[in-house]
Amino acid sequence: MAIEILPARLANQIAAGEVVERPASVVKELVENSLDSGANRIQIDIERGGHKLIRIRDNGSGIDQHELVLALSRHATSKLKTLDDLECIASLGFRGEALASISSVSRLTLSSKPAAQETAWQAFAEGRDMAVQVQPTAHPDGTTVEVKDLFFNTPARRKFLRTEKTEFAHIEELVKRIALSRFDVAITLTHNGKVVRQFRPSLDGSNDVQRVAQVAGKAFLTEACHLQAGNEGLSLHGWLMPVGTSGTTQYTYVNGRMMRDKLILHAIRQAFEEVVGSIELPSFVLFVELDPRQVDVNVHPAKHEVRFHQARLVHDFIVQALKPAISSEVSPSLLVAHGDGVE
Ligand code: ADP
Ligand code: MG
Repeated sequence: MAIEILPARLANQIAAGEVVERPASVVKELVENSLDSGANRIQIDIERGGHKLIRIRDNGSGIDQHELVLALSRHATSKLKTLDDLECIASLGFRGEALASISSVSRLTLSSKPAAQETAWQAFAEGRDMAVQVQPTAHPDGTTVEVKDLFFNTPARRKFLRTEKTEFAHIEELVKRIALSRFDVAITLTHNGKVVRQFRPSLDGSNDVQRVAQVAGKAFLTEACHLQAGNEGLSLHGWLMPVGTSGTTQYTYVNGRMMRDKLILHAIRQAFEEVVGSIELPSFVLFVELDPRQVDVNVHPAKHEVRFHQARLVHDFIVQALKPAISSEVSPSLLVAHGDGVE
């Protein structure tokens, strides 16, 4: 068989398989772009679980009229210039794949206006071919991305979409996680025109706790331990329930990036095991901060996992930092043979 280079559209659709699993992954990529653009206000509108419409509006830096088409093409990013940059990534995105991938499996409209630009412009891409149309539009400073009819041209993928209710539940869960990654950003989530979540900005940190309660429940605030350990090079802070009633809020962040990292979860589980034996993991919201050069985020296309250069050191630090916050006062009824609270 002759070897051929894949057409751009097909290559994008294949890449989309890695990044765009379901509507919630679209929301993740777009909201991360908004955060990277410096926005402090993000509006997320969903229709029919994201099957029909996902619209993210921000008040960030905007995209220049002449860069709209480029933003939609693959490997186009403003966040990474050299291999050195990759060693020390401060932005959430850097692969330049999200917009290209999403636009190859949906009908995507990108409207934007940088503050310095007189008028707003809009680019429209419809999976079918790579041609992008650009036209003037009305839009305040910032960017709106509208994604309609996700997977309309990839029926095999569309078939895997679950019910609107399930897909929206994934979106809501994701928005809760993001809301705890940036307390300073106002975030609103609507579904079918109804406000479902509204997070007001906590500018001086004084309302952080309110936001945690909005996500994890009021009981979390009265019962959870606040903890703060380590120093500038490696630190852990956040909240956790001291005893092991199986929790539904189990969120971890590394340098502000939400994670489902195996090493961190293992360390948390080990800390609970060492203090109270094998039990279910309770709720926790934990932030690990370390020198960005000590962690590789370019391990997973959706960036759920990272690689720590000093894995053992980070693991043991987390175990030791958590142990004092965990209470051994746990009722025997909560003990189970093999606690496994995290998927
Ligand atoms: P990446 O985030 O990895 O750079 P994306 O495909 O997600 O790749 O976005 C491509 C580029 O488009 C970004 O690097 C950025 O310059 C621009 N961009 C995307 N979304 C926004 C936004 N909401 N506001 C400002 N610029 C954006
Ligand atoms: Mg991105």
